[in-house]
Amino acid sequence: MKDLPEESKDHQLTVALRIRPLNEAESDEGASVVAQRVDDQMVVLMDPCEDTENHLRANRSREKTYMFDVAFDQQAQQEEVYVATTKNLIEGVIAGYNATVFAYGPTGAGKTYTMLGVDSEPGIYVRTLNDLFKDIEACKDEMDCSVYMSYLEIYNEMIRDLLNPSSGYLDLREDAKGEIRIAGITEFSTSCAKEIMALLTKGNKQRTQEPTAANKTSSRSHAILQVTVKQRSRVKNINEEVRMGKLFMVDLAGTERASQTQNRGMRMKEGAHINRSLLALANCINALSERGGRGAQFVNYRDSKLTRLLKDALGGNSRTVMIAHISPASTNFEESRNTLMYADKAK
Ligand code: ADP
Ligand code: MG
Repeated sequence: MKDLPEESKDHQLTVALRIRPLNEAESDEGASVVAQRVDDQMVVLMDPCEDTENHLRANRSREKTYMFDVAFDQQAQQEEVYVATTKNLIEGVIAGYNATVFAYGPTGAGKTYTMLGVDSEPGIYVRTLNDLFKDIEACKDEMDCSVYMSYLEIYNEMIRDLLNPSSGYLDLREDAKGEIRIAGITEFSTSCAKEIMALLTKGNKQRTQEPTAANKTSSRSHAILQVTVKQRSRVKNINEEVRMGKLFMVDLAGTERASQTQNRGMRMKEGAHINRSLLALANCINALSERGGRGAQFVNYRDSKLTRLLKDALGGNSRTVMIAHISPASTNFEESRNTLMYADKAK
């Protein structure tokens, strides 16, 4: 990998926040809207429980604001979210740089909607691949590109192929060049958007999901779409090295805490694993945001399967985008506050 120009290092970590619309269940139970976008970068959260007079007396506000690189509300369309967060990564990936896009947040906040989407409103996966194929087509006279995709989940620190779930648990291996690979994973290489959406939707149904006490279907696993672009120049020296860029698009497991969902036994164990990889991820991302692309602070990727897999697509010359998700409802206030505090850029 080559060095990025100096000015682009500022964009190494982008943090976005998306507030989904209030849903029927929330309005049925009388929830009010407590999270709102103030402007392009600011979100305000109002504490629904606290006593206003007490706050006024203590000269404290019931409202807290949080800052992001970009903030979206319920009006935001899929295309807008895609363009502001992910579209500009494509050029780099074709040029041989790596990148990762994460959807972060509690169950039901809109992560899968943003990443996978629905047939009528596809999400980031399909939009990114469409533009990637368009760009590759446009430069096909100079470049010979091939694209490979895999769709997998990490559940309880184990890797499963979502396109071939019967293949059991797969191993992460590091080859002689230090390249991380998943042994035996399915690689597909279609450029037909409809076919990709169908494959990913089918794969998504294979994810490990369990109803929790909160009576929502909670995704207990991280789902990862890995896109690898290999590129060889047609015009330059035939012997020129093949360039490879990797893009990971990750629909993280729900961040709700075990205590909130009253989980026991098996679910508690899952909770511990999920927290372990989210914690390892948070540590990596904190290290990245602190060093701002310059210093050489030690980042421990070894702590979880997720961070091991993403090792060369986090930090270094890679770009990272975190899209945090919240519900606007008063009934989800605690989870929203935790998510906003985690993702706030003004720290
Ligand atoms: P998560 O993956 O975080 O658990 P989902 O993406 O499954 O949450 O969203 C929960 C529900 O809310 C789904 O029915 C989804 O279609 C809907 N939803 C989420 N975000 C939006 C949005 N921005 N606009 C419309 N519907 C949304
Ligand atoms: Mg989901």
